[in-house]
Amino acid sequence: MRANPDLPLDPLTLVDAHAASGLRRRARRESNSSGVAPPLVPVPDAEVARGLFDALLGVACAVRADGEIILVNAAWRIAYLARGGLPARCAEGQNYFAINDRVPANTADGADAARMTAGLRQVLAGEQDAFEFEYHCDDPTGSKWLRVRVLAADFSGQRGALVSHTEVSDLHRLQQRMDHQITHDTLTGLPNRQGLAAMGHDFRSTLWAAPGDAVALVSLDRFRTINDRFGHQIGDELLVQVSERLVGVVRPTDVVIRYSGDEFVVIWSDLPSPGVSSFLRDRLVATLREPFTLNGTSIHVSASIGVALARRSQPCDGLITDAGVAMREAKARGGNRGLEFDDDHRRRHLSTVAMEEEMLEGLERAEFVLHYQPVLALPSHQPVGVEALMRWRHPTRGLVPPNDFIPVAEATNLIVPLGSWALRQACRDAAAFTGSASGLDVAVNVSVHQLAEPDFADIVIAALSTSGLDPHRLILELTESAFLQDLQHVVPSLHQLTDLGVRVAIDDFGTGYNSLLHLRRYPISVLKLDRTFVADIEAGGGDAAICKSVVGLARSLGISCVAEGVETVEQAQALAQLGCGQAQGFLWSCAVGVEDLCQMLDACAEVRGA
Ligand code: C2E
Ligand code: CA
Ligand code: CA
Repeated sequence: MRANPDLPLDPLTLVDAHAASGLRRRARRESNSSGVAPPLVPVPDAEVARGLFDALLGVACAVRADGEIILVNAAWRIAYLARGGLPARCAEGQNYFAINDRVPANTADGADAARMTAGLRQVLAGEQDAFEFEYHCDDPTGSKWLRVRVLAADFSGQRGALVSHTEVSDLHRLQQRMDHQITHDTLTGLPNRQGLAAMGHDFRSTLWAAPGDAVALVSLDRFRTINDRFGHQIGDELLVQVSERLVGVVRPTDVVIRYSGDEFVVIWSDLPSPGVSSFLRDRLVATLREPFTLNGTSIHVSASIGVALARRSQPCDGLITDAGVAMREAKARGGNRGLEFDDDHRRRHLSTVAMEEEMLEGLERAEFVLHYQPVLALPSHQPVGVEALMRWRHPTRGLVPPNDFIPVAEATNLIVPLGSWALRQACRDAAAFTGSASGLDVAVNVSVHQLAEPDFADIVIAALSTSGLDPHRLILELTESAFLQDLQHVVPSLHQLTDLGVRVAIDDFGTGYNSLLHLRRYPISVLKLDRTFVADIEAGGGDAAICKSVVGLARSLGISCVAEGVETVEQAQALAQLGCGQAQGFLWSCAVGVEDLCQMLDACAEVRGA
């Protein structure tokens, strides 16, 4: 179907504006590498422009400054027909705002229409150049999710807008599957640690407790012995029965979470008085003391329980940490008991502060080191890069792994100087890599606190220029939690770096919320598939399906996918078959010091060459 050629739209300028902005971007990239801007590509004529508009699979229209729809594409007309002649929403010659005004307010559709009106008005008034959001839609063709995007356009010197609606239901389904997988424990079906974070307000923060709420951390005593003696299957069955008992002794409004291996969290809300918590705590201890029947055998188990009461509004995370302090003391006193977190515990807990002091000194005394884990191409197994992973060479405790000190560094903001040091050191090391390691990419982990610093881009640029490392060899790994914060202001500094050739990776992809949304908002060029998905890839269940979807997603976006935590040949083969291009894991090597890395890669190259 052809568009009306008499419409006041000049597709030439419209296409010109788009082609020109694309060219500008490309010119900037190319001039970075060669210093010479490419010649301008001839702009297609009006016929071609209309053809392009009609060739779009999604529905699209052009809107004049007063809101009048001056052109709809072929997909729009087909969608209109498929709706069986429903009132012509958004047809040529009608006013977009007037159509939206007719949608009944106080309904979900009305809210979406109002949001669209507000965004479109801003674009048409020049207050913003682009606007987009996702909405749900039920119509005679089915129930679906759509993404609407509004872009400012130049219609023969007058401001207008291009509007497109694209179906994103598949992405939504994938997101829902990933979210459920990641927020629920597959064994017990209970929410897991990530599930706790998801219960927080609009998925951005953890659950908050109000005064009158209490948190219990329940840890089974000697669970490992049971596992070793009776086998993992019985161990798993025990965990399922424990979860059922816990759910059976709390109210439906309370929450039970599988926190880690043999640890569960119970959150009681709205206790009538603080004293009730000791009654509930004793009830939990008694419930778990009753024998369990597993595979026809009666097994006695006990638990250590720590309880923390919310005295003010506070995040559950902090209460769980407090409950953990009390739980560990209950365990130290022989287990099979519950204890409440008190002032004595609080005083001891302040040792975190002492650790911060020690880390500051460690930084001054150059006790931190970087180890490097190789990243290999699949299926060739050729090294293509390394990931820098920090360790602390502590004078008395030996080589401390990052999980023991990064959380304290994050909590105290010490991660900012520590992370800057890691950036500088990794660039320096990579620039000096020798033999087979020379020229490999280097990935550095970056904390959200570093990213939030206004001079973040300057710190990265300084690390590159003092080391002389080619920016194309540097990858910044950001965990998904970084994107959950309101970090819109970092988008320009990320673009500043990606324009130089630096790449940005999403670490632990799939373990955060709205993972797919981040791909559209930030200049991402690498997805790191979290190792929890890789671990079960051979089982062929939900995790394998997620690996497949994530690899496919990366490919369709034209970005790389790196699988983490590959430990077996079978996992590597399964990933290669899915088309995953790169991987790292203990199958090849753990993280090693820079000298060992260069030697190891040289030795591998020699074996290959032999
Ligand atoms: P990450 O960024 O997800 O790093 C990967 C972790 O997986 C590393 O643990 C690595 O040793 C481990 N790993 C690699 N291959 C395998 C495998 O096949 N199986 C298993 N089970 N594990 C594997 P590591 O070095 O203990 O680091 C833990 C975390 O500490 C990192 O997770 C990262 O979040 C953080 N971290 C490490 N270095 C830095 C740093 O310089 N800055 C920041 N902000 N965080 C860092
Ligand atoms: Ca990482
Ligand atoms: Ca990771």
